[in-house]
Amino acid sequence: MKITISQAPNYNEETVTIGAWLANKRSSGKIAFLQLRDGTGFMQGVVAKSDVSEEAFQLAKSMPQESSMYITGKIVEDARSPFGYEMQVSNIELIHEAIDYPITPKEHGTEFLMDHRHLWLRSKRQHAIMKIRNEIIRATYQFFNDGGYVKIDPPILTGSSAEGTTELFHTQYFDEEAYLSQSGQLYMEAAAMAFGKVFSFGPTFRAEKSKTRRHLIEFWMIEPEMAFIDHEESLEIQEQYVSFIAQSVLDNCKLELNVLERDTSKLEKIKAPFARISYDDAVVLLQEKGFTDIKWGEDFGAPHETAIAEAYDKPVFIINYPAEIKAFYMKPDPERSDVVLCADLIAPEGYGEIIGGSQRIDDLSLMEERYQQHDLTGPAYQWYLELRQYGSVPHSGFGLGLERTVAWLSGVDHIRETIPFPRLLNRLYP
Ligand code: ATP
Ligand code: MG
Ligand code: MG
Ligand code: MG
Repeated sequence: MKITISQAPNYNEETVTIGAWLANKRSSGKIAFLQLRDGTGFMQGVVAKSDVSEEAFQLAKSMPQESSMYITGKIVEDARSPFGYEMQVSNIELIHEAIDYPITPKEHGTEFLMDHRHLWLRSKRQHAIMKIRNEIIRATYQFFNDGGYVKIDPPILTGSSAEGTTELFHTQYFDEEAYLSQSGQLYMEAAAMAFGKVFSFGPTFRAEKSKTRRHLIEFWMIEPEMAFIDHEESLEIQEQYVSFIAQSVLDNCKLELNVLERDTSKLEKIKAPFARISYDDAVVLLQEKGFTDIKWGEDFGAPHETAIAEAYDKPVFIINYPAEIKAFYMKPDPERSDVVLCADLIAPEGYGEIIGGSQRIDDLSLMEERYQQHDLTGPAYQWYLELRQYGSVPHSGFGLGLERTVAWLSGVDHIRETIPFPRLLNRLYP
């Protein structure tokens, strides 16, 4: 019977075969311990000289790391193993003998590991992070599908910019100039007017010129957009969504969180509702904390976000930023037009901005005014204006950065480990 490591609990005391790679091994005299991995998990294979052919025993002792094999034996429960089961090996059929494997994560610097990202992904730690990433994606689809949202895919090649022009990737589109999408938002608004509640999940591109541990050049965003939903209602949806993915990771990634030594008591606190602090109050708070560089009207950077979030043990919304530092489409607060109905959701523990969201301008003449101020002209923007001409309604949406969320829930310091093949300043390979 051919099974995967993840199926082992269903085959206790049975003899099975697993296709596996050798992650690690140690041997002493008449016994060899093989750390096996097959993509679904990790498991120890115990090879006793007396249980196998001389050939198989020699193989077990001499096979280099990352050699591949079909390995056969009896599955037995083993309380000491973090995975609960091990195999008492009866035969090994070598598929491919690896040459000397260059990488053992603990002994190399970051640049070396990044150069070998295609191999580094095989490590237990990277495996755990990618499984958590996968769980967040799975839970995202569940949350929005159950909530009656339609998944809509905005274009990647576009002629319009949603978030300003400084971080755009330019590309040739036959005779025209085009950009790689920085955000699907403008298109998602069109989609919300057609389908009511929509969400997207796709890659976005930003030519971020500074090196930080929170910025990738290519990252994945989840962008819900909802018709007939105001700012306050949108904040509640964000709280529910973030709480749901945190709970899903806690429920379904116990092994992975354990491998990463994540303090799960921190994740258990991520439950709606989340606190809110106004931008105005945040500026005062920062000045009190000694940030002399921040004045009203300036955007916050990572150190500011971290300092604001310090007072909270779950995410906190910073609401109502000055209109002048936010995107052109955000709706002004009806009580005071110098701030907009927006929020950034800041994660605790210094992980920074996870979500940016807002209620959108629904008034045609105000949008026309913004077009003038921001010099938005031509066919790339005309269509978006038309959304305000045909049954304009209050609507809101937000964008959650997947990799920031993976970093936070996994407890990983640097965003480069949260995506299979990170694109960073000065790194396009592998
Ligand atoms: P920041 O202030 O950290 O640069 P932003 O305000 O430019 O982020 P938004 O345009 O609001 O980002 O995008 C929505 C979300 O996408 C952010 O809250 C964040 O989670 C994520 N995000 C933005 N830029 C990046 C990036 N370069 N790499 C990874 N994730 C990002
Ligand atoms: Mg940015
Ligand atoms: Mg920001
Ligand atoms: Mg933002």
